[in-house]
Amino acid sequence: MTGAEEKRLFIGIPHGFCAGVRRAVAVVEAVLAAHGRRKIFVFNEIVHNNHVVAELRGRGVSFIKSVNEAEDGAILIFSAHGVGLDVAAEAARRDLKVIDATCPLVTALHEQARQLAAAGRRVLLIGKPGHPEIIGTLGQLPAERPGIMVPDAAAAAALPDLSGIPAVLTQTTLNNAAIEPVLDALKRRFGAEVRIANRHCYATENRQNAVGMLAQKCELTLIIGSPHSSNSIELCKVAETADCRAKLIDTPEEITEAELTAVFRLGLTAGASAPPELFDAAVRRLAGMGFTRTETITAAEERVNFPPPEFSLD
Ligand code: SF4
Repeated sequence: MTGAEEKRLFIGIPHGFCAGVRRAVAVVEAVLAAHGRRKIFVFNEIVHNNHVVAELRGRGVSFIKSVNEAEDGAILIFSAHGVGLDVAAEAARRDLKVIDATCPLVTALHEQARQLAAAGRRVLLIGKPGHPEIIGTLGQLPAERPGIMVPDAAAAAALPDLSGIPAVLTQTTLNNAAIEPVLDALKRRFGAEVRIANRHCYATENRQNAVGMLAQKCELTLIIGSPHSSNSIELCKVAETADCRAKLIDTPEEITEAELTAVFRLGLTAGASAPPELFDAAVRRLAGMGFTRTETITAAEERVNFPPPEFSLD
């Protein structure tokens, strides 16, 4: 490559907010608009993005990890990742004004987990330890038939004999390359008939496909997303698996000219929890660094929208 070569920016489509995140953020916005004078609590971060959370916190929203932290009579919003039955029950017992912003696809996962357990199956959940979606999904299952989290192939191989036929579910934001070795290990442990009953969601699939296409063209792909955003981390892994360097950035200010000096084909995308204003700011910043020629790389056109939850707080 020579210094005279034109710098090109490839933009992955789709990128940024998915329908579940859009809906969850819109719920908080609607509650703020209608009830901004009341104390508003959100259980966990509404979505895993530092920018979104800081902005809402600045407008008076409190993010909590325990129902006990909510004041009596307060509004409590469940985040897009969902909560376990114990959390919902405690909020009801406290008589809090609950608004459920759980992504409908996570709610569907919860229902699936409960149905499998009711049918006598033993739910094995492939996912990341401590992630709110995992905690909330495991929290759907009865004490007499608890689910088991399976983070990796080693954990799958070490599982004890189970009382029910295993049924495998996965966190909505994983990538297939991470899931397959765990599934293979489960098949070796429990038999070839073990199947995954769900897969990652449409938004995860589309963003990962777009990153895979960027990776074919680019020397480096920048992924906008917070360090604890599962789906953003997975986008990095997808790029790296395709032999493209990847860098996760929380804000556009983390992009430095020095690291791009020798980069002429740059990819840019954003995780499902990264807001559009960060993406637009990154494009402007990169233009200032010479990446004025842009091209979109489209994996899918998304038209998914989830209707807002109905709620009345009067
Ligand atoms: S990534 Fe998928 S499951 Fe998670 S909030 Fe978005 S649409 Fe829902």
